[in-house]
Amino acid sequence: MNDKKIKVRMQDAKERVKNFNEVELGYNDEEALQEASRCLNCKIPKCVEGCPVNIMIPNFIKAVKEGNLKEAYDIISESSSLPAVCGRVCPQEKQCESKCVKGIKGESISIGSLERYVADQAILNGFSSTKQIGKNGFKVAIVGSGPAGLTCAGDLAKNGFDVTIYEVLHKAGGVLTYGIPEFRLPKRIVQKEVDSLKALGVDIKTDVPIGNAITLNDLQEEYDAVFVGTGAGLPKFMNIPGEDGNEVFSANEILTRINLMGAYKDDAKTPIKKVKVAYVIGGGNVAMDAVRSLKRLGIEAHLMYRRGIDELPARKVEVEHAKEEGIIFDLLRNPKFIITDEKNSVVGMQVVKMTLGEPGADGRRNVIEEEGSEYFVGCDMVVMALGTSPNHEALKQSPIVLTEKGLIEVEGTKTSLDNVYAGGDAVTGAATVILAMEAGKKAAKEIIDRLIKKN
Ligand code: FAD
Ligand code: SF4
Ligand code: SF4
Repeated sequence: MNDKKIKVRMQDAKERVKNFNEVELGYNDEEALQEASRCLNCKIPKCVEGCPVNIMIPNFIKAVKEGNLKEAYDIISESSSLPAVCGRVCPQEKQCESKCVKGIKGESISIGSLERYVADQAILNGFSSTKQIGKNGFKVAIVGSGPAGLTCAGDLAKNGFDVTIYEVLHKAGGVLTYGIPEFRLPKRIVQKEVDSLKALGVDIKTDVPIGNAITLNDLQEEYDAVFVGTGAGLPKFMNIPGEDGNEVFSANEILTRINLMGAYKDDAKTPIKKVKVAYVIGGGNVAMDAVRSLKRLGIEAHLMYRRGIDELPARKVEVEHAKEEGIIFDLLRNPKFIITDEKNSVVGMQVVKMTLGEPGADGRRNVIEEEGSEYFVGCDMVVMALGTSPNHEALKQSPIVLTEKGLIEVEGTKTSLDNVYAGGDAVTGAATVILAMEAGKKAAKEIIDRLIKKN
């Protein structure tokens, strides 16, 4: 019995740093079959407990083993409306795969890669799993087209609701479209998932900000229910001197310009300035995406993080990919201030070395500055990837209750306002795609229970 995962083929690191094409190439038929054959089809499948949307993992893997890909896709689609996305970006190693019994003595089943395989085959073969029922006469508005909004919309549309999504940007998908780079999540995949929602009858109105000309209150009056899934897109900064320098950006801005506005293309309307050396500050997935994107623009790309390699919050697989691609890791370091010239252009940073201390209340080890360890590094761009918080533009002029941390307060997914529900990063703070989807699903269920079951 093979206890090792079938490896996923990848673009060679030397080649991939020159392009934005997908890094992981996914399984072919034979590899998928071999990997699926490792699954024990457990009677009490622990893996399902690890999946926030409870996909019936052994059942879909069994269907893959039997060569019945349409059935595998139908099984996944009962629980998830974005399988091609989740198969690629879910932190599987902390979720479904962390619970797989095969992981006790060897390596867990590559559930994410098998899910991606099935979803990609579904796109290639034009499978659809639309079990729509007749219209029920209720109208729901959704604010934000990220994974929370899209999932809520899909579940409601399948249950006969008229659904309209309002999205401030010119493309739907939220972070899937403007944040996660093409080399991890091709935008054609996101578009396919958006198109299948449209095929269900969901109306997506882009370039429409909620909060000013149209307020939450307007939506409340016009619709039977409203779901707010506006995410957490407001970047945090360090508040150190020099942060107003011309070439200091948030990771969100860099990634949005690359993903949404094609800033890496030679003919881009808003290209990213060709600099020589850039430092990305932070250690999460966003930092990793930003630094790997900058490397692909031909820039000497550094990642500066105040803790060590073991404490990096980014997914291990992304850290490995970044290392292979030649990202320079400056660990246990923190900027003190950014230095600019007379034109306010960045010329470098004053940096201090850090030491790890005892674990704090959150279990993470504290960091202490090493006295007298400051030094100068030359660079011409600094990118802050220090986390994000919700931007509550949509809630303007609305008496909705927020928590002390500035997140939307909910009971289940119901907010303090009549018929207004919320979920995803706007409620939890920056989290993950699958948790946003779980919240979208939960909200759809609560809306269905409230509007249909009460009648
Ligand atoms: P979002 O995806 O943020 O969507 C919210 C949408 O609401 C946006 O489209 C926004 O434009 C819109 N909106 C906001 N205000 C208004 C308004 N007033 N009117 C109309 N529309 C509005 N998670 C993972 O699981 N795996 C990963 O690998 C991963 N990588 C990431 C990489 C990056 C760079 C980033 C930024 C995040 C990453 N995440 C990852 C986190 C994940 O993408 C988010 O947790 C998830 O997208 C949250 O979904 P959401 O629907 O709540 O919000
Ligand atoms: Fe695992 Fe995510 Fe797929 Fe669930 S959605 S089975 S957690 S990869
Ligand atoms: Fe298969 Fe692992 Fe789930 Fe068992 S726990 S059914 S081996 S994926």
